[in-house]
Amino acid sequence: MSRDADVIISGAGPAGTIAAYHLQKSGISTLILEKSAFPRYKVCGAGLTHKILSIIPFDLGPLVHTTIHSFRFSSGFNDVFTRTNKLPLMYCTMREEFDAFLLEQAVNAGAKVLTSEKVTGLSQDDGGVLVKTVKGEYRSSFLIGADGASSRVARSVGLNNDIEWGMAWEAEVRSSPEMLEKYKETVFLDWGTFPGGYAWIFPKKDHFSIGIGGPAHMARRMPGYYEDFINACGIPVVETLSNRSHPLPVRTRKALCHSGRVLVAGDAAGLTDALTGEGIFWAVKSGTIAAEVIKERLEGKISDLAMYTSRINSEIMPEMLEAKNICALFNAMPLRIHHWVRDSERVWMAFGKVLRGERSFNDVPRAFGKWKPLWKPVCALSSVIQKQKEKKYMRNAR
Ligand SMILES: Cc1cc2nc3c(=O)[nH]c(=O)nc-3n(C[C@H](O)[C@H](O)[C@H](O)COP(=O)(O)OP(=O)(O)OC[C@H]3O[C@@H](n4cnc5c(N)ncnc54)[C@H](O)[C@@H]3O)c2cc1C
Repeated sequence: MSRDADVIISGAGPAGTIAAYHLQKSGISTLILEKSAFPRYKVCGAGLTHKILSIIPFDLGPLVHTTIHSFRFSSGFNDVFTRTNKLPLMYCTMREEFDAFLLEQAVNAGAKVLTSEKVTGLSQDDGGVLVKTVKGEYRSSFLIGADGASSRVARSVGLNNDIEWGMAWEAEVRSSPEMLEKYKETVFLDWGTFPGGYAWIFPKKDHFSIGIGGPAHMARRMPGYYEDFINACGIPVVETLSNRSHPLPVRTRKALCHSGRVLVAGDAAGLTDALTGEGIFWAVKSGTIAAEVIKERLEGKISDLAMYTSRINSEIMPEMLEAKNICALFNAMPLRIHHWVRDSERVWMAFGKVLRGERSFNDVPRAFGKWKPLWKPVCALSSVIQKQKEKKYMRNAR
């Protein structure tokens, strides 16, 4: 069977382009099929936690709009305090720029790209994969589904199970230059108001990105929360440039991430964390693992792609599952945790270390010392409490 590339990648988000970049650097040819014309707007806060610098092989400096050192916390829009770290915690970017830059790196490394080329289906056999698009058909030895939350590839090969759905709204908002200057290093975070979710403001070069996220079944209450948040945060909105929602897929258990010659990465594999909704880091990490495993397969070191599932389950899923536990615990006692962050230097420093990649969610249970055996039962109980709070909020919110 003649091939268009060794590997076809569906989707030019961070998972797809980083996989293409690493494959090309290993001498493996890639073809990226992307449904949109590039650059394209992506509904996303585009906040990169500092830890991404350890896995991304490029200088992101030119893409960074603002560098975040401070968080301004509120709970129920009240009890406001600001915490600052002298080290950078996050970098705010815009996804149209970030994704176009990553795509350019993949192309410079030799990747072929077809944009406005939506993948509609696929079939596979011992010889390779046949990928169908709105315009034609393409063949390769392997396919990476990096086509986001509504992944056609994941659905086509039955890898879209075990996912819990969140939903997030993002508005790009113009405000006054004074506000932008005042808060250029500060993220706003209101938590403990909307069960299972939170609201944020990320400062960008010339506007703010304001968003809210939470469980998808609470989506109809999000506009009300958004409005209340805007009114309470003290940032005057001069113009709303866009306001759109998008699903957040959260994988809830260790399960298959490959099927035959096909594997899924990033949002297509449900790799956003339940606590923060962060997904770019996990997209880059899973895209990198996808490239490494396919390289090993093509070199004949492994006989199938099972290594990919096993690496996702051992290198990413423990973090995803712990994020879900911490999310439940937080939602069971939000005010207490809000006050811990306010009053305890140790807790605030730990918050920063997680964002910087010096600690992980897996370290949180360890911090409970001799009480660690109670961690899982407490989280299970917290999860029940969280569900009850969600129901109550849905009944009572306007
Ligand atoms: C409102 C909101 C705010 C967020 N904020 C943050 C944040 O601040 N920080 C963070 O880390 N994460 C954030 N996330 C999560 C983050 O956006 C995702 O986890 C991340 O984009 C996943 O990257 P990806 O490459 O897997 O998929 P995507 O970035 O979604 O890329 C998928 C690509 O595939 C293309 N595609 C889709 N279907 C097809 C098809 N059939 N054929 C071909 N191409 C296709 C799409 O056009 C897209 O270009 C946020 C999410 C939302 C909804």
